[in-house]
Amino acid sequence: MGKADLHLHSTASDGKMLPEDVVRTAHQLGLSAISLTDHDTIEGIKPAQKTAREFDIEVIPGVEITTAFNDRESHLLAYNFDVTNAGLNTLLQEHKRARVQRARWIIGQLQKKGLDLDINEVLAEAGGRNVGRPHIAAILKKKGYIATAKEAFIRYLSDEALGTIQSNYVAIAEVIEIVKQAGGVTILAHPGRMYSERELLKFVEAGIDGLEMIHPSHNYDIQKEMEAFAGKRNLLTTGGSDFHGNKKSYYRHFGVLTVSIQCVDKIKLLSAHRKGVSV
Ligand code: AMP
Ligand code: ZN
Ligand code: FE
Ligand code: FE
Repeated sequence: MGKADLHLHSTASDGKMLPEDVVRTAHQLGLSAISLTDHDTIEGIKPAQKTAREFDIEVIPGVEITTAFNDRESHLLAYNFDVTNAGLNTLLQEHKRARVQRARWIIGQLQKKGLDLDINEVLAEAGGRNVGRPHIAAILKKKGYIATAKEAFIRYLSDEALGTIQSNYVAIAEVIEIVKQAGGVTILAHPGRMYSERELLKFVEAGIDGLEMIHPSHNYDIQKEMEAFAGKRNLLTTGGSDFHGNKKSYYRHFGVLTVSIQCVDKIKLLSAHRKGVSV
C-alpha cells in the first residue's frame, strides 16, 4: 500500500533542503507520492517534478498559502492546481510583497525593544525567496541575541510575543476561490487546537474542501476530532510531516507521518472534476 506525505517545505521557502533532495529523501523513506507545500510559492515544484521522474515517486503540485482570517493568519494548503494559472500566480506575487511588508513591521517591533537589526539583513538572509520569521530568527542568532530559532520564537517571534501581526494577506474566502478557479483543492492546514468548532464552521462556509488531520501538532485525540468533523460534513482529510529540515533534523516526522495513496487519489478526482477533465 503506497504512502504519501502532503506537507513538506524546501529551500524554495523556509525549509533547509533543496526540492530535489526532498524528493530523493522521500523516495529513500519509501513514499510513493509527495507534495511540496512551500509558503506562498510554487517555485520548488518544477525541480521537484523533474527529479521525481528519475525515481518511482509522484510529486503533486502544492503550496501553503497564508490567508487572512478575521484578525489572524491562517494557513491554507492547496493541491493539484494548474501551476500556470494567472490568478494564482498573481496572488502569490502579491503575497511575496506582503511578506516583505510584514517582515518590516516585525523588525520595527523588535527595534522598539532595542534590538539592532534591519530589513536589508533579513532580506539578504532570505536570498530572494519568500521572507518569513525563520529568516529573522537566523539574523537574531547571528547577532547573538538568541542561541536557537526555537528560542527566538519563544522570546520574540511567536504570535504571543508579537501580538496581532500586521499583514496584508488576502482573505481566506478569496484565496479559496482563486485556488478553485485554478482547478485546485483547498485544505485547512494544522487546524488542531487553533480553532473552535464555530471557527471551523466558518472555514467550511468559506469553501474549504478538507482538513489536515495528520500533522506533528496533532495527537491522536485531535486526529479523531478532525476525522469526525470532516466525516460529518463530507470533507477530505489529508496529512503530512510539515518537514522543514535538512539531513537528520525533523526526520522523526518525515517518512513517519503519512497518509495513504487513496488520499492523493481523492484530491486528484476532485481536482479533475474542477478542471472539467476525466481521470
Ligand atoms: P512565517 O511564515 O513568518 O509566519 O513563519 C512561520 C514559520 O516559522 C513556520 O512555518 C516554521 O517554519 C517556523 N516556526 C514557527 N514556530 C516555530 C518555532 N517555535 N521554532 C522554530 N521555527 C518555528
Ligand atoms: Zn515554514
Ligand atoms: Fe503552517
Ligand atoms: Fe508548513
